[in-house]
Amino acid sequence: MKQKFFFLSLFVLTALSCQTLIPSSAPTQPAPVPISTNTPLKPTAAASLDSSIGAAGVGDSLYPEFGNGGYDALSYRLEILVKDVKTSELNGKTTMIARATQNLSRFNLDLSGFKVVKVTVNGADARFERDGQELTIIPAQELKQGAEFAVVVEYAGVPKPMMSKALYFPTGWIVFEKGIYVLSEPDGAATFFPSNDHPLDKANYEIVVTVPKPYEVAANGILEEETDNGDSTTYSFKVRDPMASYLTTINIADFDVETSTSAGGVPIRNYFDASLSKDYRQAFARQGEMIDYFSELFGAYPFEVYGALMMNQPFGAALENQTLSIFGSDMIYPDSPESSELVVAHELTHQWFGDSVSVAQWRDIWLNEGFASYGEALWTEHLYGASELNAWAEGSYNMMKDNAEYFSPPGSPAADDLFNYGVYQRGGLTLHALRLTVGDQAFFKILKTYAEKYKYGNATTEDFIAVAEQVSGQALGDFFQNWLYEKELPPLPK
Ligand SMILES: [Zn+2]
Repeated sequence: MKQKFFFLSLFVLTALSCQTLIPSSAPTQPAPVPISTNTPLKPTAAASLDSSIGAAGVGDSLYPEFGNGGYDALSYRLEILVKDVKTSELNGKTTMIARATQNLSRFNLDLSGFKVVKVTVNGADARFERDGQELTIIPAQELKQGAEFAVVVEYAGVPKPMMSKALYFPTGWIVFEKGIYVLSEPDGAATFFPSNDHPLDKANYEIVVTVPKPYEVAANGILEEETDNGDSTTYSFKVRDPMASYLTTINIADFDVETSTSAGGVPIRNYFDASLSKDYRQAFARQGEMIDYFSELFGAYPFEVYGALMMNQPFGAALENQTLSIFGSDMIYPDSPESSELVVAHELTHQWFGDSVSVAQWRDIWLNEGFASYGEALWTEHLYGASELNAWAEGSYNMMKDNAEYFSPPGSPAADDLFNYGVYQRGGLTLHALRLTVGDQAFFKILKTYAEKYKYGNATTEDFIAVAEQVSGQALGDFFQNWLYEKELPPLPK
């Protein structure tokens, strides 16, 4: 994710005044967390007292209530019938195929709002209870550990955006004048479908959405089928690679779709809100070149397709939805395509770091945002050479020194300030400092090794440190302790 107020381009960085950096509420300083050798969390980590009750949370250290325990979701089929785009009244049906990781007499999904009409488990009616975002399902027959099962949830109503405790702007399913868009990091997916809403439990997806004409749908993955129903159109998308729930996206507007293929062979389809000036498209002109360049640096592009989605709405953010990053109209500057390209580079970098390799716990968000911020710097280096990279590093360092109170140590953001500036800026500079410490050859081998080892899975900060130490042959515990957890910004290595 990239937020408007954090739009620190390499070209304006040193010119920014403190004013432009001040968030609406002052972030709190979290206590430094020592580097530990905790084993990564697994969906079964949060065991409950009754061994057949699935836990209501997956065990996230910052957000204990996010996700659920007791099962591993394998696939979702979302069927959404939008009856009226202006009100976004809809009927939804989600089929989740999952494997029980313990015996289950009851288990939870995350769903916010709606009337739940009917729930079945393996074809039999199931009882259910609602409590806030928790939908508790009581199957007619207890599910045995290891068994695969199918849950179908039918629901109806008008989705409501939510205020996540991690952020200060609404997330989830959002209606605007020209249509609907989705922005779900970290827990907004529950505003439009029931799921195990935590990146630890990735799954494959089918997304089937019916909208009245003349609206169109843009979603993740490959558009497999488009069916004309007379007054409405049904769009069927397939996501074959594992995806975290927060990266699921459904967007509805009148789109112009532009398709191309990168020189390296990655298919691209960009969706531009048709009501938006074509000048906005210039910022995406080099996306193919960017995909190929980052594929050289990070390893082959991990998914079967990529593209950008631009809505004609200034919502102050861009988000790396898997295979289809979304950009608010105020994140791209038609008169400055070069600085806009940095936002494009940021979201593209996330496809490797965030989407393919996802955090195992939200506390490690710097593994997403620090990497994506450094992706911007790498693109600048590619275009303008080492001197511009050094200018970025120096400018970034000095800005953080002068505005220390806004930059928390990136390894331990507070629960109500997940996207603290430190996670981005100091997280990105941590990677640059690592590069200066181990040398270019080892540094880029570290990035590739990490991206490959945890491809389509999850990683923790400790996992990244282990890869960095193993590839470089250096002991880096103190280095990461200082850069990620200590309050004071360490000096940049020479
Ligand atoms: Zn980001």
